[in-house]
Amino acid sequence: MGRITLEKVTKSFGDVEVIPPLDLEIEDGEFVVFVGPSGCGKSTLLRLIAGLEDVTSGQINIDGQDATDLPPAKRSLAMVFQSYALYPHMSVRKNIAFPMRMAGVPDDEQKRRIEAAAKALNLTDYLDRRPGQLSGGQRQRVAIGRAIVREPAAFLFDEPLSNLDAALRVGMRLEISELHKRLETTMVYVTHDQVEAMTMADKIVVLRAGNIEQVGSPLELYKAPRNLFVAGFIGSPT
Ligand code: ADP
Ligand code: MG
Repeated sequence: MGRITLEKVTKSFGDVEVIPPLDLEIEDGEFVVFVGPSGCGKSTLLRLIAGLEDVTSGQINIDGQDATDLPPAKRSLAMVFQSYALYPHMSVRKNIAFPMRMAGVPDDEQKRRIEAAAKALNLTDYLDRRPGQLSGGQRQRVAIGRAIVREPAAFLFDEPLSNLDAALRVGMRLEISELHKRLETTMVYVTHDQVEAMTMADKIVVLRAGNIEQVGSPLELYKAPRNLFVAGFIGSPT
């Protein structure tokens, strides 16, 4: 379902090549974390996968299908941003229903998916509130709920927890990890936070100036960092 491959993908803005030729394979059901310093191209890479940016060259495959020229709505991916981008005038229920209404999902099916998402995210008691009446963590859960009801082949997260305070962040990390276990859906998660990368990932992709420095499990990167940059970033003793 959620297998994503990038082949010789590049991205330039004007004359500036932000992503040099890059190959990457994301397996179905994998939790992959892109980690690296600010400005290294994490968001750009995620937006290329989502179709929010066009590749300059190369190919993106989703589920064995060439998705390079598909618009975002046709890619069966759901993106969760750090700013929750909820509609302030709509209830939680309507916010979660919104993408399904756009996609023409029948009413009773919408209801079923909203109830399931609310249950999974502990939002059942908050469905009739508006975003302004929720905490930051609850708002982020609504944003995740809105992604879940689309039943995507993969979730794309761009620093979803960076607006939350430290205590909330730890709890949400666990919630997202548990959600991944339960749904078994591919998740691609961008962060500049090493701890998030080390605790959440099946596979970490370490980026530096658009280049992949190393790909591996948290343990592999910790035990055998390929160079000082990876070692420094992962915080291992080499
Ligand atoms: P990260 O998410 O890792 O912080 P980004 O992917 O946002 O990094 O940015 C990578 C580089 O691409 C940065 O140098 C940034 O300034 C540049 N960049 C991103 N988006 C644009 C854009 N729309 N136009 C021009 N340059 C951009
Ligand atoms: Mg970014």
